[in-house]
Amino acid sequence: MTLPAYVKASAAVHVAAGAAVLFSPPTWPWALGAVAANHLVLTGGGLWPRSRWLGRNWTRLPAAAAARREVAITIDDGPDPEVTPAVLDLLDAQAARATFFVIASAAARHPALCREIARRGHSVQNHSDRHSRAFSLLGPRGLAREIGAAQARLADLVGVAPRFFRAPAGLRSPLLAPVLERLGLELVSWTRRGYDTVRREPAGVLARLCDGLAASDILLLHDGNAARTDAGQPVVLAVLPALLERIAAAGLRPATLADALPVRGDAAAAALAPATR
Ligand SMILES: [Zn+2]
Repeated sequence: MTLPAYVKASAAVHVAAGAAVLFSPPTWPWALGAVAANHLVLTGGGLWPRSRWLGRNWTRLPAAAAARREVAITIDDGPDPEVTPAVLDLLDAQAARATFFVIASAAARHPALCREIARRGHSVQNHSDRHSRAFSLLGPRGLAREIGAAQARLADLVGVAPRFFRAPAGLRSPLLAPVLERLGLELVSWTRRGYDTVRREPAGVLARLCDGLAASDILLLHDGNAARTDAGQPVVLAVLPALLERIAAAGLRPATLADALPVRGDAAAAALAPATR
């Protein structure tokens, strides 16, 4: 089992603090302070979705994808029978491909819709089995069960096992990286998110997503749990056509994560020799 360097360092802090107290009891306030500070940083690393302290985490596409002028539109928390079909039509209308981080239990309730996402050329990836609010508090076995169950369900539904995982709400714990590695998954967060589960004005969501829009961006929207506009429309449906136009106007091309990110094993090589394709 490979642990991220920061997690290894944290374990060392605990061991050193324990040894200090054992051999020199008066040092206990210092030892306790060191452990507390370490936990603060570990928690911060988990609560900040784009951090890499707890292991590798894609927050942008690599240089080769940037050279191809690619951006990745990622759409979370579906499939939703009311919203997802309209999202698929909007993407089709501009011949755009996206990545859907689906909740596997929802995918199992709507198997035909989940297959339709893949059939139209989009990528279906793992966003956990139940999207539990307590996800980041799960132990190693709980994490393995939640992510592994989703992996099995989605492989069964779509016919190909996901390569990527996104944590519910982006929240993680130091225990996540080893579980993902064992399941052959890579963690993906985002470059920018529109907060479209809470923000009701499409213009504000669009402005956030397009703030500094550039090749290699990973953008986050939601078909599940979508906020509604004052007119009752899911925000993603109001934002998506304008977002696709802005992407095209900037000379960028929406690609799926499966197409844009190097296959595992090629990743190290791609990082060393960027932008050759
Ligand atoms: Zn989510």
